[in-house]
Amino acid sequence: MGKHRIVLALGGNALGDTLDEQMRAVKTTAKAIAGLIEKGNEVVIAHGNGPQVGMINLAMESAAKTEAHTPYIPMSVCVAMSQGYIGYDLQNALREELLDRGRDIPVASMITQTLVDANDPAFLDPSKPIGSFYSQEEAGEMTRRGYNMKEDAGRGWRRVVASPKPIDIVEKETVKAMLAAGQVVVAAGGGGIPVKKTEGNHLKGTSAVVDKDFASAKLAEIVDADYLIILTAVEKVAIHFGTPEEKWLDALTLEQAQKYIDEGHFAAGSMLPKVQAAMSFASSAPGRKALITLLEKAEEGIAGKTGTTISQ
Ligand code: ADP
Ligand code: MG
Repeated sequence: MGKHRIVLALGGNALGDTLDEQMRAVKTTAKAIAGLIEKGNEVVIAHGNGPQVGMINLAMESAAKTEAHTPYIPMSVCVAMSQGYIGYDLQNALREELLDRGRDIPVASMITQTLVDANDPAFLDPSKPIGSFYSQEEAGEMTRRGYNMKEDAGRGWRRVVASPKPIDIVEKETVKAMLAAGQVVVAAGGGGIPVKKTEGNHLKGTSAVVDKDFASAKLAEIVDADYLIILTAVEKVAIHFGTPEEKWLDALTLEQAQKYIDEGHFAAGSMLPKVQAAMSFASSAPGRKALITLLEKAEEGIAGKTGTTISQ
């Protein structure tokens, strides 16, 4: 296996759902990542933040509800907080794992902003539910404060935000400089803090969530990675997933992947964004490969032994 430049996109199972789980999960995650680094690969780590940003948002909301002096905290700030907290655990665990293997390699997390288009059509149809459930009355109050509220399958009202596409990674030159210096960087956590251009040079945080798989693909494109590796809870992508006809896929061309998307094989919100992100990276230049597999199978996946590969 030669040396590659790799962007890893860590899914929920690499981080766990709670504080305790995250502390434990990152140790295993660090072992898998250190294995890739030891082989001489250059690694950028991106990650999701669903449960963590949910927890932070909930804590901030309940503080604002009960404490007159505590303001409501914008979603963009909650994403920034989640990057800090997840990055802290990841860089701490990876530093230790590398030192235990005799590798003194600097690891740091970068608070990353993802540029989105203020005119992205996603803003017209906010649909990603975040935070806690509210009564109809509370939802009315939230609506008056300018939030978008939707009834969620009979369980109550929830705030919904848009999920616009990433168009650029604001701190990209710093990520590239760290890579060039042989350092390991955690970037674009939770899809990055969504910001849009306003007047002058100001970037304004927006109430949105960028999908972490799309942000990772954008980052991989920008740093000219050879591989985008999306690490998730399944070893391979399947067609007829969860049915008796289920078939696990080894390698897909862009055309095959598009055909399976059109046939509805990949669930929206879970496997569909991964396959789309993989396709967008693979189609951005010849030779770029995307791999979807389990964290502990990443090395075998690069060696072509497992996972689902998507390439031109
Ligand atoms: P992550 O936290 O890694 O983003 P998700 O839960 O969002 O993980 O997405 C991964 C999940 O997608 C898998 O655990 C699996 O249950 C589901 N899934 C949906 N459709 C498919 C498919 N066609 N092939 C494989 N997994 C699928
Ligand atoms: Mg997901």
